[in-house]
Amino acid sequence: MDRREFLQKFGAGSAAVALSACGGSPDAGRYTEADIALLAAQRAAEAAQSGRGPFGVHRYQGYRGLAELPWFDLDAQGGLICVDDSLPKAIDVHCHLGMSYLFRPTLDLQAATARVKHLLDCDAEQPGCDLDLDVYINSNFTEAGLDQLQKSTLAQGLWGSSFARTQTIPNLLSEMDAMRVEQAFILPIKLGLPFGDNLSEHWLAEIDKAGAGQRLKAGWSVHPRDDDRLAQIRAGAAAGCKVLKLHPTVQRFYPDDESMMAVYELAEELGLTIFFHGGRAGIEPEASHPYAMPRHYQGAIANFPKLNFVLLHAGARDFEAMLELAVSHDNAWLGIHGQSLTNLDTMIRRTGGERLLFGSDWPFYHLGASLAKVLITTDSPARRNIRSAILRDNAEALFA
Ligand SMILES: [Zn+2]
Repeated sequence: MDRREFLQKFGAGSAAVALSACGGSPDAGRYTEADIALLAAQRAAEAAQSGRGPFGVHRYQGYRGLAELPWFDLDAQGGLICVDDSLPKAIDVHCHLGMSYLFRPTLDLQAATARVKHLLDCDAEQPGCDLDLDVYINSNFTEAGLDQLQKSTLAQGLWGSSFARTQTIPNLLSEMDAMRVEQAFILPIKLGLPFGDNLSEHWLAEIDKAGAGQRLKAGWSVHPRDDDRLAQIRAGAAAGCKVLKLHPTVQRFYPDDESMMAVYELAEELGLTIFFHGGRAGIEPEASHPYAMPRHYQGAIANFPKLNFVLLHAGARDFEAMLELAVSHDNAWLGIHGQSLTNLDTMIRRTGGERLLFGSDWPFYHLGASLAKVLITTDSPARRNIRSAILRDNAEALFA
């Protein structure tokens, strides 16, 4: 397959946050007009309510703008640093590295660069972009930014973009140092490509090569329709990975599909934790939306009560239904990344902080954007334990 064929097959016309593989077709009864209307209503309500929640308006100019908050400052180079030594050192359960599937040699994950270009590149200019903490975070992309994101993720898939070149291990570690993040889970994704599709193995090897295994915990991914998916899961577990990342929208499968039960059974046997991309982000191809509806996760979670499932993005734009699902199952955890201050507060009130996990989705966004939201919502003395639970203790308990 040459580059053009690759583009036609996997890239062209796709506004996915990552390249999406072909295969699987949505089942008509699985997705309704009401589901479509719900997404539109969520966007409208979010726009109307931003800044009117319990914490008021929180808009900043770039990630550097977060230095206005009491826990942050700027260093001599103008980079954001967290300066509050009393905060617990965080565990970020949701990070990635720069991606280059096909022409990997051009992307050096061991290189340090002067500045990280996050996919929402909010510090590119002075002053930085408008960063609203009280909306779902991808609402901060402008139309032009979304175009750029599409180009950049497509380019990453092929040869590694100028963005990906900055999304390296040393750059992540230095941002973690600046944000008091001790550990991060690095989540690969298996796209189901005919070749070059070994991010799991590659990132594990690169982390090892960097000697960073104490701080960066490599996750593992398989494609639900790979014939040898069970053997691949065993290989990941044997390599020491504890997290199996599955992505219903990019990989286009229903989490409760009968064919997935063997995957969960084996994950349980091997002591793995399933990390699901959860809910509709709203910027992926519409054809992939049906797979991510929260009700389609319930079959998996309910059938395997001894297996832990982490629902990343806390359901993204399907937050309300995902929160209900999580509170009714003790083995369902919510990755809080992306949610607005108001929704994070709702999660805290509903769960008391139980089973909430800090995550940033780096390198889409600066670690500080998610950290700031946790610090703002847990600023009262009554929520000190909840702050520690979200930033660190819950993740420690999950992987104990
Ligand atoms: Zn992610």
